[in-house]
Order: sequence, then structure tokens, then C-alpha cells
Amino acid sequence: MEKLDLTDAEWRDRLTPEQYHVLREAGTERAFGGKYNDNHADGVYHCAGCGLPLFDSRDKYDSGSGWPSFTRPIDEEAVAEKTDQSHGMVRTESLCARCDGHLGHVFPDGPPPTGLRYCMNSLSLDFEERE
Ligand code: FE
Repeated sequence: MEKLDLTDAEWRDRLTPEQYHVLREAGTERAFGGKYNDNHADGVYHCAGCGLPLFDSRDKYDSGSGWPSFTRPIDEEAVAEKTDQSHGMVRTESLCARCDGHLGHVFPDGPPPTGLRYCMNSLSLDFEERE
């Protein structure tokens, strides 16, 4: 995957302050506060930072967590993982593979077929309805 590598000033220019906080500072939006938690439309979720397609609505499910949740990325190359030891926990962070934007975390308590829960921030995503 070819990386998109922007300067901090370019990111600040491109993103809203809320998006910047989540994508570039690994922030977390309030549970049930994001615009896609309850989105049931058919389409594709892109990275709000660089536009890379990340998740398909067909893999979205209601986890009850308050954040949009998916069982898998649209393509295994699209979402990268990193160990996150912040806040006294060991978690797996998910990042956009192209721009390294923070998306959320992956937990091993999801439904079939993967058993994974990609717990994402709406602020990191840009939904496009399928035609
Ligand atoms: Fe991205």
C-alpha cells in the first residue's frame, strides 16, 4: 500500500478539529455520540482522512457498544493493527493502512464469521451509499 504522508499542518487543514483529534491523536468519540453508530444504510465506509475504502455495511452489526462495529475490514490490506498499551490496558489498535489514521480498536468478542469486533469511531469514517 502506498502511504499518504502529510505534515501536521496539512492534516489540520484537511480535517475538522474533532476528526483530527480521533484520527491523528488517537482520540475516542463519545459512545452513542457518533453519526454512524445507528446507520443501517447499504454502502461503503471510507477513511475520513484519505478516502481509502475500509469497511462494507454488509459486515456492520449492532454491538451495543455505542460505536459502529464491523466483523472485518473490506480488504485485509486496508486496515493495519498495532498493540496499544495506553490507559492501563493492552488493546489492538486499528489504523488506516494508507494514512496511519487512528480508526478504533479490535476486540476478540465479535459474532461469526470472524469472532472479531472492529470497534470504530464514526469520526474516522466517511460513508458512501451504494448506487
Ligand atoms: Fe486513511
